[in-house]
Amino acid sequence: MEIRKELPEIFEEFGEARKNQFLAAKELKEQGRPLVGTYCTYVPVELCMAMDAAVVGLCSMSDETIPLAEQDLPSSLCPLIKSSYGFAKADKCPYFFFSDLVVAETTCDGKKKMYELMEEFKPIHVMQLPNAQDEDGFTLWKNEVVRLKEKLESFFGVTITEDAIRKAIRERNEERQAALEIFDLMKMDPTPMMGYDMFKVIYGSSFTFDRVLSAQQLRDTKQRILEEAEDNQAKIGHRPRIIVSGCPMGGATEKVARIIEDTGGVIVGFENCTGIKSYHRLVDETNPDVYEALAERYFKIGCSVMTPDTYRFKLLDELIDEFKADAVVDMTLQGCHTYNVETFGIGRFCTEEKGIQYLHVETDYSTADEGQLTTRIQALIEML
Ligand code: SF4
Ligand code: SF4
Repeated sequence: MEIRKELPEIFEEFGEARKNQFLAAKELKEQGRPLVGTYCTYVPVELCMAMDAAVVGLCSMSDETIPLAEQDLPSSLCPLIKSSYGFAKADKCPYFFFSDLVVAETTCDGKKKMYELMEEFKPIHVMQLPNAQDEDGFTLWKNEVVRLKEKLESFFGVTITEDAIRKAIRERNEERQAALEIFDLMKMDPTPMMGYDMFKVIYGSSFTFDRVLSAQQLRDTKQRILEEAEDNQAKIGHRPRIIVSGCPMGGATEKVARIIEDTGGVIVGFENCTGIKSYHRLVDETNPDVYEALAERYFKIGCSVMTPDTYRFKLLDELIDEFKADAVVDMTLQGCHTYNVETFGIGRFCTEEKGIQYLHVETDYSTADEGQLTTRIQALIEML
């Protein structure tokens, strides 16, 4: 008889998925299945799925290998880049180790220059991402999508058919839809779970290599959350509703999410790349040109590397209204110039146009600033 797990246990399992799926990656390789590693939300993973490759996000989020990375990279670089490079160079990340190919992209300057060094010990394909989301930029990007398909074909010696791409689009859309339904649960007030638990579910699910299974697990989890919603809403009660924006969150920077909820708030949405940004907007399944459909969906991702970054503001605007947010906490990483510069405009947008509170916290992968973060975040929550 199958034992019914408690909801907190399910959340913890998702929280541990990154670590626990190392073995699954090894088994995958033993079965001869290709593994493609990525560092960015702009990579159209459907093309890898269409050749039955598994895809894994490689962004590292711990300070463990930063001293090693600083032997080659400037210490002023963002911790995400240093940590990712350090784990790769030290061969300490099993996902990196098992990845046959890394699909990289020209997003921020630090990352693209780091890839030049990484290329010395790993096969890398760099997608040229334009910095402007206009017509010319789109033409370039669509060509890059086709170029990635061609690279995958030549590197792995396979043929990627349009039918296979269509199937992958449907599967990934289904998974996106299932994730979006989990995000949507946070529109309830009180919320039926804590935002940090939702984060664990979404982030953890990205380490399930079978996309169909992942969608199923997300739907099952949603069902469980709904079944227990009334009890959990009574326990959680109404709390100040926070949207987290900014740089990708995970690992060491989860401290910000924990502090927001430990000091009395609830995170109703993560606008960043480890949150809704990676899931919202589906690929148009009716477009007969699969490359155009893919290019369109990925091209409209809002990231501070774009100028102007119209789609980040647009998404934030929608989320603030739909999730009835009281404040935005904009978490940026030290050395991330684009997100740090953008805090001025995001802050002005939140306070002047949306009439809600805004707090910018700049952090790194250490624990040294937890006291200071707690003081600042607590002051925000008490004000709401
Ligand atoms: S924040 Fe920008 S550069 Fe970083 S993963 Fe997201 S889209 Fe890519
Ligand atoms: S957080 Fe900023 S600096 Fe770091 S990799 Fe992402 S865009 Fe680049």
